Amino acid sequence: MSGPSFSPVARRTIVRSSACAFCALLVAACSGTPAHEGAAARLGSPVERPEGPGAQLLLPSAMPSPAAAVAASAAPPQPPRPARSPFAYANDDPDDDFVVAPPEPRADCHEALTAAGVQFADAKIAVHREGKGKTQLTCGADQIVVYRKSAAGITYEPTPIVTCTMALALAHFDAVLEEEATRAFGERVVRVTQLGTYACREMAAYRGWVSEHSYANAIDVETFELKSGKRVSVLAGFERGDETHTRAGGFLRAVSRRTYDEGLFSNVLTPFFDALHRNHFHLDLARYRNDGTRPSPEAL
Ligand SMILES: [Zn+2]
Repeated sequence: MSGPSFSPVARRTIVRSSACAFCALLVAACSGTPAHEGAAARLGSPVERPEGPGAQLLLPSAMPSPAAAVAASAAPPQPPRPARSPFAYANDDPDDDFVVAPPEPRADCHEALTAAGVQFADAKIAVHREGKGKTQLTCGADQIVVYRKSAAGITYEPTPIVTCTMALALAHFDAVLEEEATRAFGERVVRVTQLGTYACREMAAYRGWVSEHSYANAIDVETFELKSGKRVSVLAGFERGDETHTRAGGFLRAVSRRTYDEGLFSNVLTPFFDALHRNHFHLDLARYRNDGTRPSPEAL
């Protein structure tokens, strides 16, 4: 197992945008959507946190979460969702929603990446503790890879460093991008600009709640570049109305909703979710789920 490793300082630089700092909150914030099915992970509980890779902490079920707080003001019921994709990696198990720990390694993940035609390399962001006092976080994960290119031929800039399961999910996200870009524009996506994957931190808007970025178990995607050179950005192209009126708007709507509805990721947050996500989609594989692809009381 060889590949890049990261000093604590370098790790903090992987997430580049300030907007990304908000992505941390998204994981919890996302739980505020009507379709919320779980809860975010919280730090600083009175329960002793176990140390080491794979360590888990089951928080008291009575502990309120940002998700639960917003769920009280939930919107009308949503129509039935499509069946999960055969390549769904979203965690639909409600019993582990409060587990606060790096994601479990996935057996045969490397073999699955190879079978999916993904070009990747092993990397390392060791599980460790960071911070001071009650703000200490457990960050890193046991199964990290550099995601170089998928079978769809899409590259990400900068090159993402994510959990192996996230890489698997990205491979199928790329397939969705290819299908929807062909449908909307008649051409393929060749490049995705991303704002960050790993950052050891709490959620910006929910202090004490752990971001999936802390485990490199999330990515923020900002812009999709087509083969012709046309760039479709979330900031400029996303439409917040009930209907979309542009090809870019339709493409972004279809990609985000398919990604959530088919279960490729646990959480999908878009500009519908809040102003912090006005310029990117946040995708992660948390143990809880939130649908940030539809209007919510928090949306602008
Ligand atoms: Zn994010």
